[in-house]
This record gives sequence, C-alpha cells and structure tokens, in this order.
Amino acid sequence: MNLIDTDRVFATPRTSATEGRIVWAPGKSLWTLTHMAGGLAAIVVFPSWGGVAAFLVLSALTLCAGHSVGMHRLLIHRSFNAPKGVERVLVWLGTLVGMAGPIGMIRAHDMRDWHQRQTVCPPHPSHGAGWLRDAWWQMHCEFRLTHPPRFVVEAEIADDPVYAWMERHWMAQQLIPAAILFAIGGIGLVLWGVSLRIAVSLIGHWAVGHAAHKGGHQGWEVRGLPVQGYNLRGLGFLTFGESFHGNHHAFPHSAQLGVEHGQVDPGFWFIKALEAVGLAWDVKRPDSEPAREGLARVRQSLHAESENLAHA
Ligand SMILES: [Zn+2]
Ligand SMILES: [Zn+2]
Repeated sequence: MNLIDTDRVFATPRTSATEGRIVWAPGKSLWTLTHMAGGLAAIVVFPSWGGVAAFLVLSALTLCAGHSVGMHRLLIHRSFNAPKGVERVLVWLGTLVGMAGPIGMIRAHDMRDWHQRQTVCPPHPSHGAGWLRDAWWQMHCEFRLTHPPRFVVEAEIADDPVYAWMERHWMAQQLIPAAILFAIGGIGLVLWGVSLRIAVSLIGHWAVGHAAHKGGHQGWEVRGLPVQGYNLRGLGFLTFGESFHGNHHAFPHSAQLGVEHGQVDPGFWFIKALEAVGLAWDVKRPDSEPAREGLARVRQSLHAESENLAHA
C-alpha cells in the first residue's frame, strides 16, 4: 500500500499503518488513575475555595499558554515564531499539563495525523470506538504498530538540552508546582492544583479529541481522507479554541483556530497579545499557506454560505 509521509513521519518499505495491537500501557494507566484518585480526594477530603482557585488558575495557564499555544500551535505546527526563551517557558507549561514531554507530545500528535492521512485509519488513531472503549484506549493503552514508520524530530528540538530534560523527567516536573502549593496550603492544595488538574486535563483532552472526530459543525472538509475533524460549538472558551478541530484539519498551519464568526479562540488572543508586545511574529492565518489537497467548503445552510473567513 502506498503510504503518505508527513514532516516527521516516514514510511519504510516494511511499514504498515494498520497492522498492530492495542496494549495496556502500565505507566500511563497508573499515572492517570493516581491523579483521578488524588483529584477525588481533593474534592471529598479537602474542599476549599483556595483549592478551586488554584485548580482554575493553573488549569487555564497550563492548558491555554502551555498545551494549546506552546506545545500545539508553536512547537508542533510552528504556526508562529517566538524567542527561544519564551518558547521554552510555554512548552514547559505544556509539559505541566501532565500528558507527556515535548517529544512525546509531538510523537502522539504526528503519529495520529500520519494515520489520519492514509487511505485506511485504524480505530485507535481515528477515535473509531465508542466513548467508553475509546477512553480506555486513549488514557490507559497505546497502539503498537508491528512495522512502524520512522519518526524523526528536527534537530532544533531533538538536540535542545532543556527539552531533553523535560522529556526525561516529564512526570517529575509536577514537583515544582507541588512544592509551591504545599508551602502555601499543604497537601490539600497540592491535590487540587496538581492531581485534580491533571485528571481533568487528561479526561478533557480525550473527550474533545473523541467528540471532534465523531461529528459536529464543519466549515470545510478534506475530501479523500478516512477521518474528518469537526468543530464543537459552544466549547471555544472552555478549550481555549482547540474545540474548532474541523478548522484545524482544514488549516493545520494556522495559529488561528476559531476562524468563522462567533468562534471564540482564547489561545489566539494570547498569541495576539504576545505579538503586540513583540514576543511573537510571523503569526499564520488560514490563508498564509496554499490550501491543502482536497479542501472544500462545506455549505451548512444559507446563513453559513454568507459567512467568510473572519479576520479578527
Ligand atoms: Zn495539530
Ligand atoms: Zn484530528
């Protein structure tokens, strides 16, 4: 079978994109369960408004500035440029989300993207299973290909000593916020600001990824692919713009995810704020690169037809 290569994933003559097994990943599974238990303990044993505040502030900071902007839009897609120091801080905040280190996040993202660009996409990378089974697969297992492709990260990231340190000790990075929270409010505040935040982030990330490949609003489709992305209306604020996943499939290079009228994109507001103070430049929009192959406007309704790209 002819396999499509991407920027970082290259098929070898033996590579098969479909032949493989879904296996339990003990480290990841125990990590998820531990923080779910810790998060539950925060609510039941240590209820406090200070805990709620620590959870909200640290969740917003790590998910918006870290995961969405630092890891996804900057490190993975290079949808804008920033000074190295700023990039490292944002990527570190993204590591604090508690999903993986920088290289692990790029691998997870790019392998899924590679799978979704082939003629046939297996049920693990396409979120093809029902929600309960998919939750088990995504948060406790991994899809191990029998003959995987080569995964090559550019030297700028692979040889960066700071990223290598974050990658090696991505779980231990939690000790930094944990120490600060412990000094302020003891073990209860640590459970709110670390465990509950990680548990909610992992579940939220899975739920958005699952739903955004199942159905929803679509401004554009990418014809000829087995998997489509969809926009989850009304979740822009809560997901910092990442819920507009249909737009992301249409314009993967774009720093702006909420591109149509009414699509709230706080991650992009943050990038615009960085740009305003000179800490971000070359910020890409949907029309900054030629349209990807197969891209076609979806005509949802008469009302939607009149809408064009909203250049905020
Ligand atoms: Zn992406
Ligand atoms: Zn997708």
